[in-house]
Amino acid sequence: MNEESAPIKEHVPRLVCLTGGVISSLGKGIAAASLGNLLKSRGYSVGIMKLDPYINVDPGTMSPFQHGEVYVTLDGAETDLDLGHYERFLDENLTQAHNVTTGRIYDTVIRRERAGDYLGKTVQVIPHITDEIKRRIVDLSEEYELLIVEIGGTVGDIESLPFLEAIRQLRRDVERCGGEICYVHLTLVPFQKASGEMKTKPTQHSVAALREIGIHPHVLLCRSETALDTPVREKIALFADIDVDAVIGLPDVETIYEVPRVLQESGFDEIVLRQLRLPQRPADRSSWDAFVQRVLSPESTVRIGIIGKYIELHDAYKSVFEAVVHGGAFLKARPEIVWIDSEDVERGTAAMDEIDGMIIPGGFGERGVEGKILAARYLRENEIPFLGICLGLQCAVIEFARNRSGIEDAHSTEFSPDTAHPVIHIMASQRSVKDKGGTMRLGAYPCRLRGKTLAASLYGEFWGTEEIVKERHRHRFEVNNAYRDRLAECGMIFSGLSPDGLLVEIVEWPAHPFYIACQFHPEFQSRPLKPHPLFAGLIRAALRKRSER
Ligand code: GLN
Repeated sequence: MNEESAPIKEHVPRLVCLTGGVISSLGKGIAAASLGNLLKSRGYSVGIMKLDPYINVDPGTMSPFQHGEVYVTLDGAETDLDLGHYERFLDENLTQAHNVTTGRIYDTVIRRERAGDYLGKTVQVIPHITDEIKRRIVDLSEEYELLIVEIGGTVGDIESLPFLEAIRQLRRDVERCGGEICYVHLTLVPFQKASGEMKTKPTQHSVAALREIGIHPHVLLCRSETALDTPVREKIALFADIDVDAVIGLPDVETIYEVPRVLQESGFDEIVLRQLRLPQRPADRSSWDAFVQRVLSPESTVRIGIIGKYIELHDAYKSVFEAVVHGGAFLKARPEIVWIDSEDVERGTAAMDEIDGMIIPGGFGERGVEGKILAARYLRENEIPFLGICLGLQCAVIEFARNRSGIEDAHSTEFSPDTAHPVIHIMASQRSVKDKGGTMRLGAYPCRLRGKTLAASLYGEFWGTEEIVKERHRHRFEVNNAYRDRLAECGMIFSGLSPDGLLVEIVEWPAHPFYIACQFHPEFQSRPLKPHPLFAGLIRAALRKRSER
């Protein structure tokens, strides 16, 4: 090992490194999250980390079309949406340290180089970049009995090479101090209609590519439409030089929350623990199983609309979607999601009459905003249960100002910088900000709830707290306090404020069966076994609305 290599400390690291092959979007994040879920249910302390091979320092500057949702952690990191799956499956809060990109690694190494830390050496991918990758993995592994490391991208990509090289090197580093590493590779086993069989060749190639780099997977997870039969598993085992037991089929399932059970039935967590030389502690899966049962056999259905401009790409609203699922499961209802294009609302072609409840989620940029404002009016006037989130709150306030407070040209300075009535404007702390990356108001901030409001009653009922809640944020604009009185005169209630009272966090309109909007993103704190109060409240109100029809 190079003298600058990451020093492995006293702690005995146990790592599971998960790579992907053949194609992207096979559900590597769900597989990692599910393994975490299984190991945690056996009483292990588990962390999951994602290594992303792109050069952006974080996904915060990427369009949702490129990258899907940007997931925000408690500590204000803008991260990959897989972190959302990890948090939901682990029921743990993760941090900036759990998502590392090529950009972040290079940023650190280049700063060190400028500081003169490399003492005259030529700074290279190996060992300097790989050492920095290893350092971050090893540092984080110290916090857990067991750390799962998911490597983004697909084996064969140029970009992921330094990450793969780093996890290859880690095997010896880890073993030298008594730890263990388990390599898991996720591949695709396609079914070819013409010959009527499952094809193992792509998996063989992918394993070969991995071996060329020096990584021999211990377990193969094989995604397929239907279950893998024994001859197919035997063939893969032979080529990959592993036991048949370690070839694990992962067929399509109805809900992602079933994946842990499917993997457990195939003995996945058992094999991983064996490889890591850890005891097979008994698992308690009763509450998770009960949750999955509620998702799979609901007693009723409810139609929830989500209005946005990225609706073709459902990943852009991943956490919102999952939060609806959690709220639905809690109330034994199957939420049927109706995706509504905000520009269709502008054109008057959006079908909103069959909706029982609606969400206007967060967003950026002018396109589609008038559609969201129109939708907010429709929901208010037609007494349709409504939850506004971030931009959704801002649109609701603009609509309310225009149509109930008589401020006709009310707008946000984000979309109309010269508006005469900026009911939404940039936060004072954001005025001098020039850089776009990581500079929004990010992460958890406290919000004081006002007594006897819908917000206080929902948080009290579901989370047992009616005073201060901590919620995650990602925005630059806010309600302009100069208009608060005029809005309040027309019935709008500011039911959540920052503790100093200066920043509006929640608004509601009590003349409506369920009308509530928040400046923060409640979806990031919804968990399968602990639905978010605002989402659960929305689903319940929507069920009521449906029964009235
Ligand atoms: N664009 C708005 C702002 O920056 C809303 C952001 C959001 O919805 N996340 O304040």
